[in-house]
Amino acid sequence: MSKVRKRLHMPGLLVVGDAARLIDPLTGGGGISNACISGKMAAESILLSRDRQEAGQIYEDRVRERFEVPHMRGGWFMKEKLMEVSDELIEAVVDALHSVDLGTFSPQELINAVASTRPSLMEEIRRFAGL
Ligand SMILES: Cc1cc2nc3c(=O)[nH]c(=O)nc-3n(C[C@H](O)[C@H](O)[C@H](O)COP(=O)(O)OP(=O)(O)OC[C@H]3O[C@@H](n4cnc5c(N)ncnc54)[C@H](O)[C@@H]3O)c2cc1C
Repeated sequence: MSKVRKRLHMPGLLVVGDAARLIDPLTGGGGISNACISGKMAAESILLSRDRQEAGQIYEDRVRERFEVPHMRGGWFMKEKLMEVSDELIEAVVDALHSVDLGTFSPQELINAVASTRPSLMEEIRRFAGL
């Protein structure tokens, strides 16, 4: 689960779907719909363009605007951050979810709940949050 590919076209080739890495980097979801959408975008870009280079550029711009900028960069950042976290902290957070009101809880409340049961993890939480 990586970032969207750096290059999505070359003369005569438009890269779509999984090959373009159009999967949510955080959840791994959306692969089927993203493959369909990017395939449609590739076909439209070819129809709209005068030559291969232009088709590639139109396609690349559309894919980056649709997938990369608003959504996947944030997901990729979160995935990278979560990979720094120990299994123990993830388990502590899941345990702590039992003690908060899921309808209204705040991140601080969750941190407090973890701290009350596993104070030894506070240093890792501070590092994760950049405190
Ligand atoms: C176990 C699993 C579960 C998943 N569950 C979900 C889910 O619930 N929801 C969701 O949205 N996504 C899910 N995905 C992801 C989703 O399947 C992919 O994101 C999606 O299929 C990507 O479509 P694609 O067309 O890019 O690639 P693919 O579906 O992989 O299609 C590529 C095709 O190219 C063919 N091919 C490869 N090499 C060559 C070659 N040299 N010559 C000719 N043909 C070739 C392959 O055989 C394949 O048929 C799941 C994936 C897996 C592995």
